[in-house]
Amino acid sequence: MEQASCPLCGEDNSTELWTKSGARSVRCSACGLVYENPRFDSAELKQFYSSKDYYISDDPDVNASGYKNYFAQCSPVLQNEYFQSLAHHNKKKGKVRYLDIGSGPGGIVQLASEAGWEATGLELSSWAVNQGIQSGLRMIEGTLHEADFPDGSFDVISMFDVLEHLPKPVEYIREIHRILAPGGMVLAETPNVEGFFAKHLYKENADLIKPRAHICLYSPSTIKRLFDFVQFSEVEITTFPWCRHYTPGYFKSLVVSRLQRGGRPTQFTFNESMRVIAWK
Ligand SMILES: [Zn+2]
Repeated sequence: MEQASCPLCGEDNSTELWTKSGARSVRCSACGLVYENPRFDSAELKQFYSSKDYYISDDPDVNASGYKNYFAQCSPVLQNEYFQSLAHHNKKKGKVRYLDIGSGPGGIVQLASEAGWEATGLELSSWAVNQGIQSGLRMIEGTLHEADFPDGSFDVISMFDVLEHLPKPVEYIREIHRILAPGGMVLAETPNVEGFFAKHLYKENADLIKPRAHICLYSPSTIKRLFDFVQFSEVEITTFPWCRHYTPGYFKSLVVSRLQRGGRPTQFTFNESMRVIAWK
């Protein structure tokens, strides 16, 4: 374990928020970032994400941090929405050089390739990387810093549910900016810790609080501050519910999950997710 100063502004003063499954969360007194302290050090994080239990597990202790089945959660509908939002906001004409960070087995990489983009997936899980390679996709195993891409390598970079896992977000955003081509765009989605239901109803029981995994939780103001560390020409921040769109299926799942015995009720969401799009 390691003690951390605020990963966003470096301040040491903070106020205690809660302790969940042994993980203590605080709010920075200077910038308001919510972060875990103490937290796993880099060796512990590496081991945490190398374990298959993080991605597929029935153990409720692991489940609070990781996924019951990460790969089953990569729904084609959601991946299609992800790709549509990238395609919609992309300004590059012609061949688009695209990187998806935390790509899993490469669902969005595949959609982008089919659309004629030159697409690459970057992923920590060797299992997921191999799945992607077997599907004929261009996949790289490792961290962004290990990949060490040349300056200006990409026109579009996406990070769906990545920012909340990063112990050094400022360094990471600088690296993203470096590998983006002029005019290039990064689109990131992350939980909004100031989400209405998370803040007022669920608190530490909110789905977005995942001990050891979600080590930095942002709000619209702290995410703005993160992207302000580098000179993007334009930054756009929007919030939306986890379900992305209120559909009859969402309301049905709210009711049905409450009627099932032993199941976990679907949480209400209003603005618990956040999207940042920044153009270099
Ligand atoms: Zn701070």
